[in-house]
Amino acid sequence: MRYLSTRGDAPVLEFGDALLTGLAIDGGLYVPERWPSLPRPLGVYRDLPYVDVATDVIWPFVEGSGPGAMSHDELGAVVEAAYAGFRHPEVAPLHHLVGGDPAGADEYVLELYWGPTLAFKDIALQLVGHLFEHELHRRRATVTVVGATSGDTGSAAIEALRGREGIELVMLHPAGRVSEVQRRQMTTVTDSNIHNVAVAGTFDDCQDLVKAMFGDRPFRERMGLAAVNSINWARVAAQIVYYVTTAARLEADRRPVSFTVPTGNFGNVLAGHVARRMGTPIERLVLASNRNDIVTRTHASGIMENRGVEPTTSPAMDIQVSSNFERLLYDYWPGDRGARGAGVAEAMTEFRATGRLELPQPVAAAFSAEFDAGAAGEEEVSRTIAEVWDRDHYLIDPHTAVGVTVGRRLGLAGEVMVELATAHPAKFGDTVERATGIQPELPDHLADLMEREERLVELPDDLAVIEEYVERVCRR
Ligand SMILES: *Cc1c(COP(=O)(O)O)cnc(C)c1O
Repeated sequence: MRYLSTRGDAPVLEFGDALLTGLAIDGGLYVPERWPSLPRPLGVYRDLPYVDVATDVIWPFVEGSGPGAMSHDELGAVVEAAYAGFRHPEVAPLHHLVGGDPAGADEYVLELYWGPTLAFKDIALQLVGHLFEHELHRRRATVTVVGATSGDTGSAAIEALRGREGIELVMLHPAGRVSEVQRRQMTTVTDSNIHNVAVAGTFDDCQDLVKAMFGDRPFRERMGLAAVNSINWARVAAQIVYYVTTAARLEADRRPVSFTVPTGNFGNVLAGHVARRMGTPIERLVLASNRNDIVTRTHASGIMENRGVEPTTSPAMDIQVSSNFERLLYDYWPGDRGARGAGVAEAMTEFRATGRLELPQPVAAAFSAEFDAGAAGEEEVSRTIAEVWDRDHYLIDPHTAVGVTVGRRLGLAGEVMVELATAHPAKFGDTVERATGIQPELPDHLADLMEREERLVELPDDLAVIEEYVERVCRR
């Protein structure tokens, strides 16, 4: 399998290079040159363990990456290691809800939060961490990963890279502007390759510092800078798997099974789209937004328009632009490879300059035909959390509640509707408590989080100081 940039003007890469490169040099995102088919009939996956299905489904994206590249067995070992730390043997288990609208769909919640940081990002990042280690070992190379976090994704990256050979991680967060639980999830990790920096500034300042480090070419090359950002293809590949295991388990080859996906950067639901392209029978794919609803507005109107972002109780979905949407645009864009790359490049440049993009008619038509979409307001979200607790005695977090709200609104009698649970309720315990009166408990492995020792440095918002620090702690 080879990888092309969505903007058509970057080198064609093998899997390992696409993994380590992240963003293409033309500003595009790497996509596989074609969609592979599921290696085996869906029914075969019904009785296989998660890691076996994962190895099978991810293999076509890795296969044939040049001499010395990963073998099927090596991928199997990497996948096994990635999911060994999950606290549920099924990795992504289903929970049946019985208290919904009896005239609606048969409703399941797909729990994607059994990884170390209690959010679905672990499913992708745990695999990416192990893939990075494998690929770097093979090349006898080392990297320094630098990242900025507003609180949520930092801990998933730290848990993914802690103790990984050949990798140093420096994570910047804005001092005093992340919650105590979020900070402690990052700063209590004591592995020697993890370096937390509290920057005297805002999240935007942290992000600017990371961009400036990447822009400082001599520094970038000297340190071997790398990123594990949301646009890495391997993250999407990892997320395809649970659509396949769920479709197999619920016998989607014999009855209609639909999915509702709480959506921010469009990575999760894009994986559902690819699962479908690979032949997984998915009846409907439903996008669910909170009130930052650029994706659902684009779905309804064919016009993508940036209107700024307002804070909600589901902060991981508070986005202005869904970066992975570019991969869907590329998939739908008419014409040959050259025309598609040029078209997407022009469209993204226009959107960046004006904050507005009218999708070409065939693109808008395909998007509208292959997805359904809805948005949920803050009151509805709170009401859904309360309703699910009252009728099913089951706690859901506010991101999941956006999905359940929209899934219930659009679910049809006679279909199975799977709503993706993207965070553990304890991760957003205060919102859950306001809706239900119940404060969800942190799982055992985090129960003593507030007593653990923290390790971090506080530094000014000053590029020279930050670079000097990175150079000092990451020198080998
Ligand atoms: C990242 C995240 C989302 C959004 O997922 P995308 O892949 O960005 O669409 C939803 N819920 C939670 C809890 C998340 O962490």
